Amino acid sequence: MRILITAGPTREPIDPVRYIGNRSSGKMGAALTQAALTAGHQVTVILGPVSVLYPNAARWIDVESSAEMLAAVVREFPNHDLLIMAAAVADYRPVAASAAKISREGSLTLQLETTPDIVAEAGRLKRPDQRTVGFSLETAADEDRVRGKMRQKNLDLIVYNPMQTVSSDSIEPILFYPDGRVEKLPSRGKAEFADILLQRAAELFRGKSL
Ligand code: C5P
Repeated sequence: MRILITAGPTREPIDPVRYIGNRSSGKMGAALTQAALTAGHQVTVILGPVSVLYPNAARWIDVESSAEMLAAVVREFPNHDLLIMAAAVADYRPVAASAAKISREGSLTLQLETTPDIVAEAGRLKRPDQRTVGFSLETAADEDRVRGKMRQKNLDLIVYNPMQTVSSDSIEPILFYPDGRVEKLPSRGKAEFADILLQRAAELFRGKSL
């Protein structure tokens, strides 16, 4: 398969030195990249700013903001079979970034807008021969909420993972499918889970020749 993986956080500029972002170590993306390469897939990684090391064998594209990540996904997705959207895209961004560094005087109010939903856009562009997989991080496992996201983003598989996953080496995921299937997996290392997720993703193509 040709697999496109997004990973890491995005940074939404406030001015040339400050930004708004989400916490994300990029570890899940690194594990997925390694697992996909080991399984013999062709991998492109669209990577936000992270400090973990990524396997050199992958082709990769560095991005900072959600706007840059969106542009890269829209450009790259048509040449891939599968998109795994593991990035923790920031939810809000300043309506306008200041070109000059804002000086620290008194209080500051920022007007924010929601960032573009990147995987939802990929879901709109998706051809019948392509699949998309997303993640959902929630403080409580609200099944209806996770299913709502899956529909809204036109995903073929969504991985619910609890808050404890952030920066951790392990994950206790629940997999949701559009046909109503739910698969609850015991806690395991992210590397081991990456292998399982790739197998499940490959099964999404069953009956389709790549
Ligand atoms: O933040 P949320 O829980 O909606 O994220 C669910 C999925 O949507 C994740 O796979 C995430 O990478 C993706 N997402 C996105 N663009 C956003 C927000 C989230 O692609 N602006």
